[in-house]
Amino acid sequence: MALTCSKCDAPAIYFRRYTSEALCKTCLIRTTQRRVRLTINKRKMFRETDRIGVAISGGKDSAVLLQILHDIEADFPRATLHPFTIDEGIQGYRDKALEAARSLVNSLDLSLHVVSFKQLFGHTLDSIVHNRGETRRGACSYCGVLRRHAINEAAKELGVDVVATGHNLDDEAQTVLMNILRGDAMRIVRTNRPRELSVDGFIPRVKPLMELSERDIVAYAHFLDLPFHDIPCPYASDAYRNDVRAFLGQMEYKRPGTLLATLHSGDAIAASLSEQIAPGLQNTCARCGSPTTGRICKVCQILEEIDGR
Ligand code: SF4
Ligand SMILES: [Zn+2]
Ligand SMILES: [Zn+2]
Repeated sequence: MALTCSKCDAPAIYFRRYTSEALCKTCLIRTTQRRVRLTINKRKMFRETDRIGVAISGGKDSAVLLQILHDIEADFPRATLHPFTIDEGIQGYRDKALEAARSLVNSLDLSLHVVSFKQLFGHTLDSIVHNRGETRRGACSYCGVLRRHAINEAAKELGVDVVATGHNLDDEAQTVLMNILRGDAMRIVRTNRPRELSVDGFIPRVKPLMELSERDIVAYAHFLDLPFHDIPCPYASDAYRNDVRAFLGQMEYKRPGTLLATLHSGDAIAASLSEQIAPGLQNTCARCGSPTTGRICKVCQILEEIDGR
């Protein structure tokens, strides 16, 4: 017999495992948006007059993020949304994702700001990987550092108060567990700073989808027919994260709620260790003036490595 929706009597089309709710399309969309609103309020992510930068990759997470923020923003007319994309220069991947990002942004009557590695650093990620020489560092280790800097530059160009990214519950739970398994609990604190404790020189970042599972996000994007690009990055090879993802995926399947419990453990660790990270520990990079914990920031180290700057 077909299931009926737990919220109304319409036929259910989706079962949200961690809340044990069978949902019709209307209630799936309504309750998903409600979850995001609750996360935003509970974690005090936005203020009513914010200029909000929205980091759009062209993938499903950021498509859902922008669509939901656009909906919520209708209730807060003094806040504005400013979507942007970082183009790392990955042929056959980011160029395709950019098409999906443009299509979504246009459909919401917004405009897309694009910042490229080529503009900022003089190199595409493809050329960095091609010319990386003997170090043979993984592509993601260059990409992660450079993209973090690029997001901050894009945010400054747009003059936004805060940047929202599309990290979902699965991403966040994996990151918490990876940091615990590596013995790096302080990293949980550094990557979970509440908005008001952001480091000088960095525009604060928030993750409104952090309590929404990837499965919910896929269902939401599917039922609203949002344009997104679903091909994995050709350089994606984080074996450690893949192992943790597989483990947490199994646990969530057997014991729904494991991902949320892991996220909440990360919150508790961040809260109890936060005083050990004094803001005064920050230096400024001797080359570019960006905040850093060492003498030279990681971006300048990479640029030095790849072209001797
Ligand atoms: S998978 Fe690695 S190289 Fe590809 S976009 Fe992500 S961080 Fe960059
Ligand atoms: Zn319903
Ligand atoms: Zn620097």
